[in-house]
Parts: sequence; structure tokens; C-alpha cells
Amino acid sequence: MRSIHRGILLCLGLLATTPAFAWGPLGHRIVADLADAQLAPGARAQVDALLASEHMQSMADIANWADTLRDDPAQAALGKATAPLHYVNMHGSCDYKPALDCPDGQCVVGAINHYAAILGNRRLPVAARAQALNFVVHFVGDVNQPLHAGYQQDRGANDYQVQFDGQGSNLHRMWDSGLLSTRHLDALDYTALLQKQGPVTLPAPIAPLDNPPAQWAEESCKVVMNEGVYPQGHVIGQSYIERERPIAERQLRIAGKRLADLLNRVLGDSRTVSTPR
Ligand SMILES: [Zn+2]
Repeated sequence: MRSIHRGILLCLGLLATTPAFAWGPLGHRIVADLADAQLAPGARAQVDALLASEHMQSMADIANWADTLRDDPAQAALGKATAPLHYVNMHGSCDYKPALDCPDGQCVVGAINHYAAILGNRRLPVAARAQALNFVVHFVGDVNQPLHAGYQQDRGANDYQVQFDGQGSNLHRMWDSGLLSTRHLDALDYTALLQKQGPVTLPAPIAPLDNPPAQWAEESCKVVMNEGVYPQGHVIGQSYIERERPIAERQLRIAGKRLADLLNRVLGDSRTVSTPR
């Protein structure tokens, strides 16, 4: 009896402390597939070589690896160490403030810059660069999921309960996977649907930020601030899906383009990769 009780407490504890980790498997696969189709030849060759070193076929195959680490006993320490790298907590406004929002580079903005630098450094061992590719593919998806740069006080809406389809959920999970699941498509079909919309126009770079992932986080934060993201009465109905799903899908398209651009840059001819925090 006591052990059952302890088990329940343990489960509750895990529920309370385990953050949801961004686009669900579907969203991350879509971002990877969208990016894959936009790789330049130089980056394509290097991505394929790094994937082959891990016995993987495609970027979609590695896109969710970073979310599986904590469930794998052999990787749990890495999962724990990298848990804060899936999001950024913006403080007070959507202006990214490195010292406050990303101390010691421990947020998704710092993580993208850190792992992009490893990925682009051809003097480093293949294993380190392949691992960095896994993280970059995942974290570029994460930073473009708006609620990964949302309000700190409700942990990116993980603490904001909603009703959806007659069931309880939370708003973060809705944006990770609930909204996308309403299409009833697998990753390949969903990617094809989004590709039919043509190339996405990226927001213009913000000068003098000079730290692209920070800009991406600021944009995600501003999406969260839009009226309507937090549903009236905590209920996700059809009108919410019709209004917000296009926004989520645009974020996927933006993430795919940005991931491709980043890979083309760090794996192209340019050997120098700056590392702002
Ligand atoms: Zn994540």
C-alpha cells in the first residue's frame, strides 16, 4: 500500500515538474522536412554524412531526439542538463535581455548559437557535430513554437488549463500538438500541405539585434501577447482552431525556412560562425 502511495506521489511529482517540450513529434518532423527540402548542395552533403554517422536517414528522424533524452536512462544526465535549453522565459516584455532571460546561455537562444557553432566547426569530431545537428534541428523548432518564449509565470501556458474536445488539457500542449492534430495528417502529408502554400516570407531582421535566434524568440513572444491566444473561458472550440491553427502553421513554415538558412550558413562555404548569446 505504502509503495503504491509513493508511486502515485512520484507520478504526481513528475507531472508537476516535467515541462512539456515543444512541438510534439509531428511538429518537429514537419519543421525538419520543410527544412530538408530547402538545403543547398553543400549543406545537404554534410547533413547526410552526419546523419549517416548516426545511422539515420533524414532530419525528421532526429528531430525529436532531444525530447527523448530524459526517458532514456543512458542519456538522462544529458537530458537533465539540456532541459532548460528548450525554451526561454522572457521577463517583463518581449525584448530579449541576455543577462536576465538567458543567464550563462542556458535558454533556447543560447543553445541554438552554441550548437550551431559546434556543428559548423569542421575540426571537431563527427560525433560531436552530429549531436549538435540533433540539437539544432530540435531547438530551431522549439524557439518558433510561440509558447516556448511565453510568460514565465504560467510556464509557457503549461499551467493554463483548457478544455478541448471534451477533455482537459493545457494551452502549451494545445500549441505543441493539439492544434496540429486537428488536421489528421501525418508528417509527410502535413509537410506537403504547407509546401503548397509556397515559400514563406520571413520577418525582416531587427537591427541592431544581430542575434537571429533572439529575434525568433522575440517574435514568438509577441505571438503569445496577441489577443486570443489565451482562449476565453479556457475553452478551445472550432473558432479558436480556425483562428490560431494558421498561426501555428505559419510558425512551422518559418521554422523550416530558418532551419534551412542556418544549416546552409554554417555548413556552407563560410567557416566562421559567430556565437552571440
Ligand atoms: Zn523541445
